Amino acid sequence: MKKVILVTLTMICALCSSAQVKPMTEFVDDLMARMTVQEKIGQLNLLPAGTIQTGVSENSPMMEAIAKGQLGGVLNLKGVKDIRELQEAAVNKSRLGIPLIIGLDVIHGYETVFPIPLALSCSWDIPAIEQSARIAAKEATADGICWTYSPMVDIALDARWGRIAEGNGEDPYLGSQIAKAMVRGYQGTDNQHFATDELMACVKHYALYGGAEAGRDYNTVDMSRIRMFNQYLLPYKAAVEAGAGSLMTSFNVVDYIPATANKWLVDEVLRKQWKFDGFVVTDYGAIAEMVSHGVGDLQACAVQALLAGTDMDMCAEAYTKTLEQSLKEGKVSMADIDRACRRMLEAKYKLGLFEDPYRYCDPSRRDREIYTLEHRQAARNLAAETFVLLKNEDQVLPLKKQGKVALIGPLADCKYNVGTWSVTATYQSGTLREAMQRALQGRAELFYAQGSNFCRDADIQANGAFYRDVPRGDDEQMKQEALAIARQADVIVCAMGEEQEMTGECASRSNLEMPDVQRELLGELLQLGKPLVLLNYAGRPTVLTWESEHVPAILNVWFGGSEGSDAICDVLFGDKVPSGRLTVSMPRTTGQEPLYYNHLPTGRPVTEGTKKFEKFKSNYLDVSNDPLYPFGYGLSYTAFEYGELVLSSSEMASDGSITATIKVTNSGERDADEVVQLYIHDVAASISRPVKELKGFERIRLKAGESREVTFSITPDMLSFYNYNLEYVLEPGEFEVMAGPDSSLGRLRKASFVVR
Ligand code: BGC
Repeated sequence: MKKVILVTLTMICALCSSAQVKPMTEFVDDLMARMTVQEKIGQLNLLPAGTIQTGVSENSPMMEAIAKGQLGGVLNLKGVKDIRELQEAAVNKSRLGIPLIIGLDVIHGYETVFPIPLALSCSWDIPAIEQSARIAAKEATADGICWTYSPMVDIALDARWGRIAEGNGEDPYLGSQIAKAMVRGYQGTDNQHFATDELMACVKHYALYGGAEAGRDYNTVDMSRIRMFNQYLLPYKAAVEAGAGSLMTSFNVVDYIPATANKWLVDEVLRKQWKFDGFVVTDYGAIAEMVSHGVGDLQACAVQALLAGTDMDMCAEAYTKTLEQSLKEGKVSMADIDRACRRMLEAKYKLGLFEDPYRYCDPSRRDREIYTLEHRQAARNLAAETFVLLKNEDQVLPLKKQGKVALIGPLADCKYNVGTWSVTATYQSGTLREAMQRALQGRAELFYAQGSNFCRDADIQANGAFYRDVPRGDDEQMKQEALAIARQADVIVCAMGEEQEMTGECASRSNLEMPDVQRELLGELLQLGKPLVLLNYAGRPTVLTWESEHVPAILNVWFGGSEGSDAICDVLFGDKVPSGRLTVSMPRTTGQEPLYYNHLPTGRPVTEGTKKFEKFKSNYLDVSNDPLYPFGYGLSYTAFEYGELVLSSSEMASDGSITATIKVTNSGERDADEVVQLYIHDVAASISRPVKELKGFERIRLKAGESREVTFSITPDMLSFYNYNLEYVLEPGEFEVMAGPDSSLGRLRKASFVVR
């Protein structure tokens, strides 16, 4: 009997599968006509599979939910075998055989791990960033996954916020370019029909998650709509325009309403204004968290979320528990549920899951397509482009592969140096010590000592270790060992900074300096008077004021992914030239946060570069307003010189364009890449406008001695902004154009023109 039922169900399902040849709307209409209310609500339910590595048990509550048609998707599961098992249950055991959508946080690579997103942004290498997403898509889909919770495009101005590591820095223009590149990389070119090696993107966290007050994760966000439209919303919009298939709401409130239930945000802005046609999922448990926000009980919160246009409920089970009741009570209509269900089915249709529910479950792909040499090489190349050389006194760098090198610091032989969202990676990445041994093999002698714990206080260290047991030693004893090997060495390399989980989710810090015990060790090593290089591992801007005064060479290496250690050696020993440029302002002191280059002028501005305090001006008694290292900054092993900035005209029609050209010369002795940056300032407008805004950039390669003219086209769009009424306008008047190697006024060449 059981068998007969199974065969019949399989036939129904086969019908349902072959029907994908029908156009999407017709197909979904047909399917929905056969669905019960419970099955429709089931499509809106997304649950975690348990732990990432566990297998799926036959009689688990999840299997039961799948069989009853109460589950639309699963997250946190990897591996073709387990995923296929779930998919078979959905296809064969549920009444209509609707396949599941399988999602995972594939954030900066899958098994081949790329640098953290903040680091990636510092490469300013858009094609390479797109390629990183392409590779991640290839690998994840080869392992059964079809949907990734990436890109995260939240603008973050406050480095105390740990999730600054997961975004693209402080600039909306660069952030938008990266958002588009990531979507293209994951999804390919046809957003209506996914190939089997393409992942559906989920842009997050909509919206303003990075605006958390005081940099404390999940905290309140309160900002004007003008600021939202001109600064914070732009990267989400760009990702939507690039065709992202889904969006994730954020945990915070927007205008005092949790984003998940904010109808203006989700329905009016996202769907009506931006014409987003994908589906919206909540962040993890966000509907249940609305109860803590104080806007109602679970049923009321689910109603608000659905009516706002949020389609899928991640992990709160609020829709499955309450929507049927709310329908009976008239709090939501069938049309509201249908709308959300349709969007989920459409996403599955676009992913081709009705055509073949197992199309992402090809067991032969894993060995061929995951963690390949080619992917690892791409990750290594890109990682090397993300490191930012902050200081290089007396050309300490690059180091020669000779003599005795002392490698010291808690990150030197630590394998947790890959990056905060590498949770899904199972291949063991090499430590820096191992990579250095390889690089120096037969040419130089390498000494190693850990030197210190991450933090003197064991509890604070544990807070930043994400429940992982990081072994601790005696700080004094470790210091003595480090000093002993350093005394014998010709050069000291310090691998210090944050442990990888000191940034990321729920990893806010109130002090952005190098942790206490590491700084002290660094101080003692410097006393030896030997050439010393600091490799600063960080997922956020670090306060390096003291280091910048005392340490001869500082290379900010962020967290470089699975190939990061080899990439560090490539740059350290000069096989590659550093070319990363900061996408976040590096503060002089934590108290300057939030610190960002594209701020408003205020009525009492202090000229950039002013060192002395000025009474009754907008500045601090004890520190200059300027960052220690500005947005866009980064040194090279060569030198670049900039000529004058030449405009094609001093006037532009409001529907015309002009060009800005600048000559860049590599005046040093190494072939190298430079990131030429273009900024614009609207001198007088109907609202106060930022002192400068990035509006263009080009990453160019120049041979030693070579010059090139870089030309930017200035278009009306680059001069337009959202005015007081949130209309996107170009207002005639004077504009300043600036071009150069970074955002600091002293290094930018200027010109101006008038829009008639
Ligand atoms: C994070 C999201 C993530 C989700 C699923 C949440 O806690 O905020 O960024 O995608 O979990 O893992």
